[in-house]
Amino acid sequence: MSKAFRGAEYCWMNGEITPTKEALVSAMEPIHLGIFEGIKAYVEGDVQGEGKLNIFGWKQHIDRLWRSAEVNGLAMPYSKDELLEAVRASLKANGFTKNTYIQPRVWPMAGEQDKSHIVVPTWGFDTLLGKDNPLFGEERRFMMSSWRRLSSDALPPQVKSWANYANSFLAIREAKRCGYDNAIFLDNRGFVSEGTLACLMTVRDGKVITPPVTASILESVTRGCFIEFIPDLGIDVEVRDLTRVELYASDEAFLCGTGGECTPITSVDDIKFGDQYPGPVTKKIAEYYSDIVSGNVEKYRHWLTPV
Ligand code: PMP
Repeated sequence: MSKAFRGAEYCWMNGEITPTKEALVSAMEPIHLGIFEGIKAYVEGDVQGEGKLNIFGWKQHIDRLWRSAEVNGLAMPYSKDELLEAVRASLKANGFTKNTYIQPRVWPMAGEQDKSHIVVPTWGFDTLLGKDNPLFGEERRFMMSSWRRLSSDALPPQVKSWANYANSFLAIREAKRCGYDNAIFLDNRGFVSEGTLACLMTVRDGKVITPPVTASILESVTRGCFIEFIPDLGIDVEVRDLTRVELYASDEAFLCGTGGECTPITSVDDIKFGDQYPGPVTKKIAEYYSDIVSGNVEKYRHWLTPV
């Protein structure tokens, strides 16, 4: 088993709970043509605790998986309800009682385009959320990538396919080579697009601004939730094109995504945001999001599906 392996003991593969080390396919399988989803299940009541899990944004993630399959011409051999039961069975088989990441992967069977493999690996993760979390305030220096975000007229960024991540990894590798932690993309028009693995939001004059879906972003589930709940905090959200200089001139900037949750950014191209890091608006949003994913906000319980 490779050292990089990090799945839990069991996964669900093609209809059955399977020991992960036995979840093998031929090296000839076209996995590179596959699609996937990244989903999180959080502990009820306290994101840093232990106990019963709820899946965040199940419906939105699973609808996007089906859309990705449709656009890329992949067959989905199970129903959405069957996949939910598969995820539940997998989480139970592993006995998870802490925050868990769920990554359904679908790819066409070698030589049989009308059939697909589906595997659902899961693993634990360290959250940035929760009260006094030391991970939240870590410095994160970003650069503006010299690579543009892939665009809808070539490879649609709205599809969550492995192929799209080749674009992200070029930008991540460049950023690390240049001594930064990660990168922000411009789209093919020169407007700000998104991060390499998450969407971007900035704060200017107390208002949150985030680029539109037409700026070559993934239609992020988390971004959708943020746009829905941020006005509850008395903060306006503007979805509009953002120029590079507007980003530089922002008071705060943060990423939002399933993996990224609410990740504060210290600087872009060494231009620091505001005079406080993480900024007060980012903190407020992260706290509210922590409460939402852990089920503490009644109004947003509809974003949660019990395991
Ligand atoms: N953009 C990219 C490129 C991503 O990989 C992700 C993570 N899925 C996101 C945005 C955030 O999307 P979501 O909130 O649906 O996880």
